[in-house]
Amino acid sequence: MDFNYTAEQLAFRDEVRTFVRDHMPHEIARKVIEHKELLKEDWVTWQRILFEKGWVAPHWPVEHGGLGWDAVRRHILEEECAAAGAPRTIAFGLHMVGPVIYTFGSAWQKQHYLPRILSSEDWWCQGYSEPGSGSDLASLKTRAVRDGDHYIVNGQKTWTTLAQHADMIFCLVRTSSEGKKQEGISFLLIDMKSPGVTVRPIITLDGAHEVNEVWFEDVKVPVENLVGEEGRGWTYAKFLLSHERTNIAGVSASKRELAYLKEIAGKEIASGRPLIENPRFRDKVARVEIELMALEITVLRVLAAESAGKAPGPEASILKIKGTEIQQALTELMMEAVGPYALPYLPAQWSNHWLGERVGPDHAGPLASRYFNYRKVTIYGGSNEIQRNIISQAILGL
Ligand SMILES: Cc1cc2nc3c(=O)[nH]c(=O)nc-3n(C[C@H](O)[C@H](O)[C@H](O)COP(=O)(O)OP(=O)(O)OC[C@H]3O[C@@H](n4cnc5c(N)ncnc54)[C@H](O)[C@@H]3O)c2cc1C
Repeated sequence: MDFNYTAEQLAFRDEVRTFVRDHMPHEIARKVIEHKELLKEDWVTWQRILFEKGWVAPHWPVEHGGLGWDAVRRHILEEECAAAGAPRTIAFGLHMVGPVIYTFGSAWQKQHYLPRILSSEDWWCQGYSEPGSGSDLASLKTRAVRDGDHYIVNGQKTWTTLAQHADMIFCLVRTSSEGKKQEGISFLLIDMKSPGVTVRPIITLDGAHEVNEVWFEDVKVPVENLVGEEGRGWTYAKFLLSHERTNIAGVSASKRELAYLKEIAGKEIASGRPLIENPRFRDKVARVEIELMALEITVLRVLAAESAGKAPGPEASILKIKGTEIQQALTELMMEAVGPYALPYLPAQWSNHWLGERVGPDHAGPLASRYFNYRKVTIYGGSNEIQRNIISQAILGL
């Protein structure tokens, strides 16, 4: 297998690099690189820049407004965007419900929703998990009962990321309690402005409002918002999750984080010389860097297989486990790099002030917050323990 880019791919990389350099808003890139809080308009601004260039959905088929690019081109785009400090495109529309709609949706759903996802007119969120139904997702209880031209939905979703910004939610709902629990699940698209939908914030241990509870109380959903067939929601949900996991390795972003780690560990600290001069610390950085190189090669192998027409299988679980472990290791080393300035929970840490007083160097403030926030990555998208179960069953045959 040849990991070198062809001349055509190198020319494409230069084109992407130039475009991103010329169009990436500097203030958004600084926020991403320095781990400051992103607002909804920051994400939407960048997605609209990509949309206007025609690059927002390189993985979608051409007939649905995408580019149909092969996996290597997509990888190059992701690499260049991440290196320049671009926020990742929000996955819920572009990577999750979009592919479900163009694969299983009705003609009306494709015509109505796909252009709005591409242009960022609609912000989507994911309504899968419920209290008591996370890893055991098929046990979900939110009910949708058919009443003429509508479903009446009652129940509760939880951990719903960025639902406070969302126009639409895609939901797994129970339409039947007969037979196997997977067979009674359907996939519904619900307007967040519908009467009876309530979003309640969950504040996580980093002090951020990123996740929510979403409650449904007699919410009327038109039948035309059912994706595919009633009772086949589990099939669509599994299709969507396999897309979510390949996307989750986050190699490009981790490469940017590694570069930032070296930058901040190279700065002088209060207690003396820069930490990067300490051989024991350098060993730890080197270990993560080697892991990251190995992961990148694994991602390229999966991409090469994908380009040859092979859908990602349980390898996606390996990418998820290693990718998230590396992301967490980087947040830990950054905490170490700023030493005593890595302050835990401070509501004002993004601005780096505590009761009006400046705390430590500029870059130190957001790092503890990020460290706590990133405990999530080994949980969401299917916890790493569940990924290990998948590997043991599908790859090792245990
Ligand atoms: C920050 C964050 C954002 C999220 N965003 C969303 C979102 O937008 N939409 C959405 O629908 N969901 C979202 N989730 C939910 C996420 O998918 C679930 O948290 C995850 O699937 C785990 O489910 P759970 O929290 O119910 O934990 P549980 O399933 O109760 O698991 C608890 C612990 O037991 C372990 N465990 C469970 N079963 C097994 C098993 N069979 N073998 C071995 N170990 C096991 C788990 O690994 C975990 O460590 C988010 C979660 C987080 C933390």
